[in-house]
Amino acid sequence: SPRVVVIGAGIVGCSLADELTARGWTDVTVLDRGPLFAAGGSSSHAPGLVFQTNPSKMLAEFARYTVAKLGGLELDGEPVFRPVGGLEVATTPERWADLARRHGLATSWGIGARLVDPGECARLHPLLDPAAVLGGLHVPSDGLAHAVPAGEAQARRAIDRGARFLARHRVTGVAQEHGRVSGVHTDSGFVPADVVVCAAGFWGPDVGALAGLTVPLQPLAHQYATTAPVPALAGATREISAPILRHQDADLYYREHGDRIGIGSYGHRPMPVTAAETEAHENSCLPFTPDDFADAWKQSLALLPGLAGTEVSAGINGVFSFTPDGMPLLGEHRDLPGFWVAEAVWVTHSAGVARVLAEWLVEGQPRTDVHECDLHRFTDVQLSPEYVAGRGAQQFVEVYDVVHPLDPPAVLRPLRTSPFHPRQQELGAVFTEAGGWERPLWFEANAPLAEGLDLPERDPWAARWWSPTVAAEALATRRHAALYDITPLTRIEVTGPGALGLLQRLTTNDVAKPAGRVTYTLLLDAAGGIRSDLTVARLGEQRFQVGANGPLDLDWFRQHAPDDGSVELRDTTAGTCGLGLWGPRARDVLQPLTTSDVSHEAFGYFRARELSVGGVPVTALRVSYVGELGWELYTDAAAGLRLWDQLRDAGQRHGLVAGGRRAFDSLRLEKGYRAWGVDMSTEHDPVEAGLSFAVRPGKGDFVGRAALERRPHDRRLACLVLDDPATTVLGREPVRVGGTPVGHVTSAGFGATVGRSIAYAWLPASVAGPGTAVTVDWFGEPVAATVAAEPLVDPSGARMRC
Ligand code: FAD
Repeated sequence: SPRVVVIGAGIVGCSLADELTARGWTDVTVLDRGPLFAAGGSSSHAPGLVFQTNPSKMLAEFARYTVAKLGGLELDGEPVFRPVGGLEVATTPERWADLARRHGLATSWGIGARLVDPGECARLHPLLDPAAVLGGLHVPSDGLAHAVPAGEAQARRAIDRGARFLARHRVTGVAQEHGRVSGVHTDSGFVPADVVVCAAGFWGPDVGALAGLTVPLQPLAHQYATTAPVPALAGATREISAPILRHQDADLYYREHGDRIGIGSYGHRPMPVTAAETEAHENSCLPFTPDDFADAWKQSLALLPGLAGTEVSAGINGVFSFTPDGMPLLGEHRDLPGFWVAEAVWVTHSAGVARVLAEWLVEGQPRTDVHECDLHRFTDVQLSPEYVAGRGAQQFVEVYDVVHPLDPPAVLRPLRTSPFHPRQQELGAVFTEAGGWERPLWFEANAPLAEGLDLPERDPWAARWWSPTVAAEALATRRHAALYDITPLTRIEVTGPGALGLLQRLTTNDVAKPAGRVTYTLLLDAAGGIRSDLTVARLGEQRFQVGANGPLDLDWFRQHAPDDGSVELRDTTAGTCGLGLWGPRARDVLQPLTTSDVSHEAFGYFRARELSVGGVPVTALRVSYVGELGWELYTDAAAGLRLWDQLRDAGQRHGLVAGGRRAFDSLRLEKGYRAWGVDMSTEHDPVEAGLSFAVRPGKGDFVGRAALERRPHDRRLACLVLDDPATTVLGREPVRVGGTPVGHVTSAGFGATVGRSIAYAWLPASVAGPGTAVTVDWFGEPVAATVAAEPLVDPSGARMRC
């Protein structure tokens, strides 16, 4: 097996050694600059609370695996995990509602949970004042991981299979040969390796730098204190018996240490730790700053009055990692094959992360979808020190906040703007941000269009980041025409004599069509799962423009491109811009601005042409993600403003409006167009996702083809229509048939044309047929819905083909 060096013997490094050796990769050397196994990293200080519930299905699955794995492990006869349960309490109505929502998330991801009243909270946690809480969320399988023994227990299993653990080996350099990693230099000599994994915790950026890699995480200190003995716990014989406890309204959590209580706080000011400071510190503990803890103590006395008889007796400002989006960082260095990272991982997710990374290394790809934590999910502008520090600190501040799924990040904005930004501001755009880009949700200038619309009232949660204007923009698109800024969508130029061959090999549809044709197609992974969906426009014999889902698609192309120089790959997103001009009047808007004939006969559906529009050279694609007649128009960013102005002026008399993301999303749901990463991922195949039409098995071999034939296709992405037009859901809620959870919602929205709320959901194939009655949990209440035949609007596609 390959020679693997893991840098770091914290919980992640130990768990990875176990997972690799269990899969037969037994030549594993784990190096740590500290002693074993309390090596001085974050794992050495973590109190080890494992709360599994999370909005992210991926993180919830990582946590479930950690619980399952550690729950069966012992070190010298002592369990390394205590399944004492987890209790999250609410002291405000907003939190209580959020706990009902989290109960739904737990149900969606298969974690048993229940909402309990104040009396039950106090019964579960005797120190708690029932009068201080409105209720709680109890997850019986949550618990406490003893991070150091859990690491050591896994390390011993790895050692039994042949792994080596070397203490006091500080990695000082990363060696490479023939463009691959070849080993690491340490202060005790060179260690050769075919694969190096950086699991160095918050020192990750320093170790990454040795390999020329930016590891985008910000180390921040977090206060953890323990009390003196608590009189009410006197005589405690067990280290912990009450559930681990979260009081998120005060940014606090608790666990027992025998007759003492440990208190963790996220309520203090962010305390970023610079690279220079981390270098200076051999371990991850900075001195405790009691002033920062004063409020935490006050709040703790209010929740747990029994603490009045004691005091804080010790504390640390313990350091660990925060990434810009709160997710771990996993994957291989783009420019140095063989160098991998497993960074910004909580104890909670450690075993799950180690498992998928081991699968990725040994089998070539993880078995579950990990795009949310891919090392390369960020674009270059998101890798600046300011972005990483600013967003990392924001993650710290918000860690226990009630965060709405559509809440945009607040810091370092605007960062990337399209050339249309000034015009969007003039129209009163309400912006969100994604991938560093400012994106209008809707335009206040369109508010008068919503007057007189008979729209159901949304409840306060669903009404956030929504406005009746959204429905008005959607209706204007179906009735007249609208302009959508599609600049942030990733565009990749694929050119050269090998371009067609590469695209044919990677995609499911047949893209070997004459120049001027556009093809909707999928990228599959080797297991037949959907890696991405693309529109491929053939602009010349050897020139393709690919509309993709993000930087990971370019990586995939690069990994598979021949190294003979026959294919050139370029991400053109930053230097170009795009507008979607869609609606029944789109042609009336466009034709007067160009001397080219844009009639259906001259410029048909799924065709591409180079046009001059009002003097601006554009690449026009006759495609529509909203299901209407129209074009995607791309040009140089520098010429974008003129393009916008020309189209806006020409559109005035045709009722053209600017449309935002939310209208766009509701229109695509009405048309049944899937959003990759939300509705589908590598965990699903084209048959299950309803995309078989994009697969042409007859065209010859392509990545994933053989595996696709062997898959059971036992789930379906189904279209649900909520029975009562006044109800809404947002995504990730559990779906039940006959009261039993069977699936979860992916994306949802109000369909203005159909006047109903739409939700796409993963269901077992057996119940996914039209007509099935289901319920969706919405803050604990069942919302009735029915599986519908899709798409809901224009099933024949006539509106686009005219
Ligand atoms: P670490 O444990 O930091 O291990 C990294 C190792 O790399 C270190 O041992 C270090 O010595 C070694 N290393 C670094 N550089 C080099 C080098 N150049 N050469 C050789 N070795 C090197 N998580 C939870 O899930 N639940 C909690 O309740 C929880 N509470 C926390 C409370 C506190 C106070 C802290 C500090 C953290 C808490 N965390 C919690 C977070 C959790 O502890 C970390 O996310 C996790 O332990 C990180 O594990 P790791 O293995 O990645 O890193």
